[in-house]
Amino acid sequence: MNSPVSEPSDHKQSNFLRQIIENDLAQGTYASRHWGGSPGDAAHHAQGTVDPARVRLRFPPEPNGYLHVGHAKSICLNFGLARDYGGVCHLRFDDTNPEKEDEEYVRSIVDSVRWLGFNWESGGTSHLYQASDYFDFMCRAAEYLIEAGHAYVDEQSPEEMRANRGDFGKPGVDSPFRGRTPAENLARFHGMRDGQLADGAAVLRAKIDMASPNINMRDPAIYRIRRATHHNTGDRWCIYPMYTFAHPIEDALEQITHSLCTLEFEDQRPFYDWVLERLAEGGLLSAPPPRQYEFARLNLTYVITSKRKLAQLVNEQRVSGWDDPRMPTIVGLRRRGYTAEAIQLFAERIGVTKSDSWIDYSTLEGALRDTLDATAKRAMAVLDPVKLVITNWDALHGAGTLDDCSAPINPHAPDQGRRSFQFGKELWIERTDYEETPPKGFHRLYPPQTAADGSTKPGNRVRLKYGHVVQCTGAVRNEQGHITEVHAELVPDTKSGTPGADAIKVKGVITWVGVHDAVPAEVRLYERLFNDAHPDAGGKNFLDNLNPDSLRTVQAYLEPSLASAGVDDRFQFERHGYFVADRRDHHPDKPVFNRTTGLRDSWGK
Ligand code: ATP
Ligand code: MG
Repeated sequence: MNSPVSEPSDHKQSNFLRQIIENDLAQGTYASRHWGGSPGDAAHHAQGTVDPARVRLRFPPEPNGYLHVGHAKSICLNFGLARDYGGVCHLRFDDTNPEKEDEEYVRSIVDSVRWLGFNWESGGTSHLYQASDYFDFMCRAAEYLIEAGHAYVDEQSPEEMRANRGDFGKPGVDSPFRGRTPAENLARFHGMRDGQLADGAAVLRAKIDMASPNINMRDPAIYRIRRATHHNTGDRWCIYPMYTFAHPIEDALEQITHSLCTLEFEDQRPFYDWVLERLAEGGLLSAPPPRQYEFARLNLTYVITSKRKLAQLVNEQRVSGWDDPRMPTIVGLRRRGYTAEAIQLFAERIGVTKSDSWIDYSTLEGALRDTLDATAKRAMAVLDPVKLVITNWDALHGAGTLDDCSAPINPHAPDQGRRSFQFGKELWIERTDYEETPPKGFHRLYPPQTAADGSTKPGNRVRLKYGHVVQCTGAVRNEQGHITEVHAELVPDTKSGTPGADAIKVKGVITWVGVHDAVPAEVRLYERLFNDAHPDAGGKNFLDNLNPDSLRTVQAYLEPSLASAGVDDRFQFERHGYFVADRRDHHPDKPVFNRTTGLRDSWGK
């Protein structure tokens, strides 16, 4: 598949989630649902009108790190489904765990989702929410569960609690605190809330079934004591809800219809439903409740997507930061030169399934090439320069003269016009485009050859792309034997685009930049960060699999049209691949380019 990205809605493959949504829409499952204009309890929404959004989804990151390519899959999925089905997708910070969360992450997540091309505004409302704004309701919900006999304060030690939970083969054992009356439990819970108990001294647990075959239903904890300053609520609370209790409530307060999560939450679904059923019974939350559906997370070869491990790479300075162009973070991919269109196309191509698998890294790069090929401006660049001297230039053209050449800015878009540069006596070419003794099949520059039988073969002729044909005569070496100049003679009347230019047939075409008008630049040649396709699988230490050659920096010469490149401008350097002006370090008088990817998938070949 090579087509550039088309309209977002015209090449959608169906999948199980689309079928679920289409079915719900056909049955009117959520048609009578109300929306109170903002998140809220049953009474709040009952006052509102019928929800103008046909479905509501959410992307619920925890602000404890930067988003990565796995999150991008979830973002494209949730926002994409909302867009395609006349719905809304909320951006919700799932910030119920105060210790690791930070405003810096909140800001970067907002930026990353926007950059990917999505927004959470609809009908004049910004659907950007924070779970911590629901702490009052969550506490009220806990009190209701206590009053209704569905929750109790457990003061067993964490070890006792763990031992009494049982395991797969063994049912759990009731806590001695399980028989407390609602009044006792309420008083104890208020003691927790008011700071009368030490951290870890008690937890509030749902009272469900200590013999359930699903261990998650064996009276899971719903509130814990933790004296920690929260980035939004400060020191207002010393108790915090557990994720599995908070999440269904967040969804219900926001009138989410389809709550999508990764497969590891499948076993949590019965508890998700239990919480919502109990709170709907109590009249706290409106019906019908949201439903949870699980999909396979993205596993990408050569990439790790654990936030903890990514943080380790940053903290141990294995990379330059969260936005290092080798990082699979959205800020890293962006700095590497990825476009939002490419990431959206990638998400579309991988689709969603219900079973885990690995996606090959080349799928991501393929989506990138397919989007950039149509749009990237072309330019010539010499990454490993050696000087080519045209020894008959002065005789043919006159000393100091320059010859104007031009090429399309983008051959797929002739209306973008042409770029110009000049040919002269001295040019930069790739060092690898010259061989003293050509290997078999080498069609670039080599000097006259004498075979063992004494027969001779002339120096090779190549075309300097968009310029002239030259014939190689030899090379100059310094005292260390290092080649400092390659010499060639111009073949007259061969200039590209002039009549008769093709009369001389050549097998090799090479790229070049004029010595007089070249733009010197730092070019960062990135490779994959890991050597192993599954860097952290099966207990492997991912740090052992770092690719030592994941970054090579070269001093290159670029075509003069690149002198005006701006930050984030993307180019195809002919023969070399796709490059972007680095968003952190590029400056017009000190250009810095990153290699985004090569022209074709050459990894391991
Ligand atoms: P943590 O280990 O901190 O919980 P997380 O990767 O689950 O990390 P969240 O911020 O909780 O991070 O994730 C936000 C959303 O992104 C969740 O709905 C989660 O399912 C989804 N998500 C995270 N990683 C992936 C992945 N690799 N593929 C698809 N979706 C993902
Ligand atoms: Mg998570």
